[in-house]
Amino acid sequence: MLDADFFRRWLTVAAAAVDREADRLTELDSPIGDADHGSNLQRGFNAVRATLDKDAPDTPGAVLTLAGRQLISTVGGASGPLYGTLLRRTGKALGEAAEVSEADFAQALKAGVDAVAALGGAAPGDKTMLDALVPAVEALGDGDFAAARSAAEHGAEATIPLQARKGRASYLGERSIGHQDPGATSSALLIAALAEAAGA
Ligand code: ADP
Ligand code: MG
Ligand code: MG
Repeated sequence: MLDADFFRRWLTVAAAAVDREADRLTELDSPIGDADHGSNLQRGFNAVRATLDKDAPDTPGAVLTLAGRQLISTVGGASGPLYGTLLRRTGKALGEAAEVSEADFAQALKAGVDAVAALGGAAPGDKTMLDALVPAVEALGDGDFAAARSAAEHGAEATIPLQARKGRASYLGERSIGHQDPGATSSALLIAALAEAAGA
């Protein structure tokens, strides 16, 4: 079973990964974006970490909805509302239980990813974060965190030959081909943090 501590650990590990990889995320966002993805997420996840340190909600659902609200209010770019929606919708799907099973979480995360697709109007193949998130939730099944991590990593790498159809990178048309999508890369980091928190 997964409790509020597990979800706090996930987001704390994610915040550390974002700090460590911020320069790389921003570099990926420079040829096909506006070179701010690393700093956007660093601002957002630092705010999440600070909020969870100060106010430690005692259910999984409350941890995720609070973190999602922080991302929406602190990240300026497209990724803020999208990641904020991912966490808020996942948290809402978990309800008010003090502990959730891995299978319940997997189902909730799928609802969160579906909400990201609905908000951004994107699908796998459009060269966005969904190219990592969708394969990750598929591989997660009833709680295979290691499989989710490797599916997300492969999904992020597989954005290199794609032409972007959503977001800022889509303005470049064919010139977006040949670069890894920054959002798919940060999604793979978040799923890797999840696997680490789960000890997978
Ligand atoms: P901005 O483009 O506003 O500067 P960021 O640089 O923080 O925002 O985030 C860019 C990332 O957001 C992209 O690499 C892509 O993965 C993701 N993204 C952008 N638009 C969409 C969308 N409509 N649906 C899903 N993901 C998107
Ligand atoms: Mg950007
Ligand atoms: Mg921007």
